[in-house]
Amino acid sequence: MKIGFIGLGNMGAPMARNLVAAGHDVTGYDPHAPMPDGVIGAISAAGAAREAEVVITMLPNGEILRAVAAEVIPAMRKGAVLCDCSTVDVESARAVAGQAAAAGILALDAPVSGGVGGAAAGTLTFMVGGSAEAFEKVRPLFDIMGQKAVHCGPAGSGQAAKICNNMILGVTMIATCEAFALADKLGLDRQKMFDVVSTSSGQSWSMNAYCPAPGVGPKSPADNGYRPGFAAELMLKDLRLSQQAAESVDADTPMGQLATLLYQTFVESEGGRGMDFSAMLPRFEKRHRG
Ligand code: NAD
Repeated sequence: MKIGFIGLGNMGAPMARNLVAAGHDVTGYDPHAPMPDGVIGAISAAGAAREAEVVITMLPNGEILRAVAAEVIPAMRKGAVLCDCSTVDVESARAVAGQAAAAGILALDAPVSGGVGGAAAGTLTFMVGGSAEAFEKVRPLFDIMGQKAVHCGPAGSGQAAKICNNMILGVTMIATCEAFALADKLGLDRQKMFDVVSTSSGQSWSMNAYCPAPGVGPKSPADNGYRPGFAAELMLKDLRLSQQAAESVDADTPMGQLATLLYQTFVESEGGRGMDFSAMLPRFEKRHRG
């Protein structure tokens, strides 16, 4: 397949590499990042999109996505698919889908979970919003870049699924970290805490698969000095998107709101920037009540 790939940063580059390795013809554009081996460089986003049957974007935010979409949609072939894999606000995803439809282009919002490791290994999960026709056209590419693709519904549904999932993740990570810090102060051994909670009703992915306590549970960023992994500032980005979405539909999300505030404080004034999001545990360890 002829593929245009726009945004070849930490996630985009390994995803594009996997498409090349599977034999696809990939033309890329990124104003800052180098072209991965096997990807043909274009001089503009429109240049990368012109001949493509599928254009994939992997960009920092909704504002940049809107700007890139405004440039590439007029350049794309009718019937081609614009597939955005970035994590952006639901409104931007829907706006881009609307513009694409008006120009005879199919569109998908297909954010991912699995991080840089999943992108390199080709084991991402895609949460996809858009028409069934567009989903079926891109499915073979999802199968190369990932291990699972869920068609969630119409435009915006992929982003909705992503931010709801990550709101749960932010909240459960904080709950897990504050419980570990409480357990410490109560004199409970961390390994015993893990043994009980990971097999009891307090279990979650944060505890069982990504335990924030070093030396306890499976290997995680806690065992690597809290180097990311999934950086606290990316968690904050996703939590902010969840709150923006909640605001737009008048949804009450008090836990998501508090998690956003805690990660904001952590990133902006408590040294959390550049740390894994599970470094909430050492943060709580140092703190007192009140
Ligand atoms: P990144 O900053 O490494 O890459 C983004 C790339 O987009 C950069 O190389 C940048 O030069 C490029 N870019 C910016 N403006 C552009 C433009 N106008 N045209 C073309 N390219 C442009 O970010 P990343 O970690 O690769 O994340 C990309 C997206 O994936 C984000 O939306 C992020 O939230 C999401 N995401 C990241 C992770 C992760 O663990 N890194 C996990 C899941 C989802």
